[in-house]
Amino acid sequence: MSGKRVLGFLVARPLIAVVIAAVVVGVSLLVHTHRQKTPVTGRTEHVALSDAQQTQLGNQQYAKTLREDRADIISSGPQYAEVERVAKRIEAVAGRDKPAFVWRVTLLRKNEANAYCLPGGKIVVYTGILPVTGNDAALATVLGHEVAHATAEHAAERIEREHLTKVAAAIIAGGVAFTPRQYVRVFALLGAADSLPFSRSQESEADHIGLVYMARAGYQPREAVAFWKRMQRASKGKEPPEFASDHPSDEHRIERIQKWLPEAERAYTPAHGD
Ligand SMILES: [Zn+2]
Repeated sequence: MSGKRVLGFLVARPLIAVVIAAVVVGVSLLVHTHRQKTPVTGRTEHVALSDAQQTQLGNQQYAKTLREDRADIISSGPQYAEVERVAKRIEAVAGRDKPAFVWRVTLLRKNEANAYCLPGGKIVVYTGILPVTGNDAALATVLGHEVAHATAEHAAERIEREHLTKVAAAIIAGGVAFTPRQYVRVFALLGAADSLPFSRSQESEADHIGLVYMARAGYQPREAVAFWKRMQRASKGKEPPEFASDHPSDEHRIERIQKWLPEAERAYTPAHGD
């Protein structure tokens, strides 16, 4: 093919263009580690995946979940309305820190107190969390925590720490140059259901950012303390879900949240109509 025809071919098929680019220039050129500041906490972190790459990786996992759990998706009724209402406000706040992410929430009928947010802004909530949250502010506590993992790029940071960034970039570029074991590992680090737990410092950071997010979204941050106490009682003797995991003591978690409350209350403006 002539140069012009090759170019026309590639422009018409962007995915093929990306795969060819990955093979030709090598996946290493698709990633370069850069310094990045986390929202709210202002911590310097090192990640290599761009916002667009994180979104693509999260979307792959999200599409898989929607396919597998299609029968359990709830798209009407009071529970759906509540999740949509709270998620919209939390997403608007998180979107200021990550305007490139494309936010969306899905409610699944599952009898398990859990929720998560994938890199790039796709949120999944299980109906089993709603009896524990009980009100919008507590649901905002959970969603604030989950979207904080995404805006603070915790999954990308974990992938970087495990030296899997090039593998992740290769998966995004069309699945070249990775082993099945590495492939599974990358998806296990995304923060979805049944994935590997985040580190304790990332969990604590998500609590801190999430508390400020719920306040910015117009929810009274003190409600977070009441929620974690309820969560503590509800998960007694059971395997804790991701957002409650890796905490040796919920009491310390509540202590830390109380320490951040003055900062969150400064960010709090009651929403109109509350
Ligand atoms: Zn978490």
